[in-house]
Amino acid sequence: MNNETMNQGGDVIVTKLDDLMNWARLSSLWPLSFGIACCAIEMMGSMASTYDLDRFGVFPRPSARQADVIIIAGTVTFKMAERIKRLYEQMPEPKYVISMGSCSNCGGPYWQHGYHVVKGVDRVIPVDIYVQGCPPRPEALIGGILELQKKIEGESLSAMTSKA
Ligand code: SF4
Repeated sequence: MNNETMNQGGDVIVTKLDDLMNWARLSSLWPLSFGIACCAIEMMGSMASTYDLDRFGVFPRPSARQADVIIIAGTVTFKMAERIKRLYEQMPEPKYVISMGSCSNCGGPYWQHGYHVVKGVDRVIPVDIYVQGCPPRPEALIGGILELQKKIEGESLSAMTSKA
């Protein structure tokens, strides 16, 4: 929560509803357990004990209906693109997309000759955060998650509900 949060006499906290909701949402990001190719190995490494994404409130969920983040970790083929779109559509709002790695960002090593590879998952679903690398290290993914948390921190609940 930002500086507007005040503790008055130890009993009352005064803050804006937006700040409270955003703090709750950014502190409990639940990504879909989903990976496509080699980048997914690094994503799994990020979830393991050495990097421990739990400390940021990031817990993978097995169902798109329980997830609010999808991390596209791997090569997006044209065959897979349709499945990715379906999974994204099954996630409840508000939802976010992290594109992890060169393949997902722009086609990666398949950019020139990969006739079967989509040249960026943002041609299929909207992307909030891009993480660069082939593959990105877990630190890079953690950096992407922190950027997403910053983005959520600046969102307005009223703007979101008026869009829906
Ligand atoms: S960006 Fe590199 S490591 Fe990641 S899926 Fe593509 S080829 Fe594999």
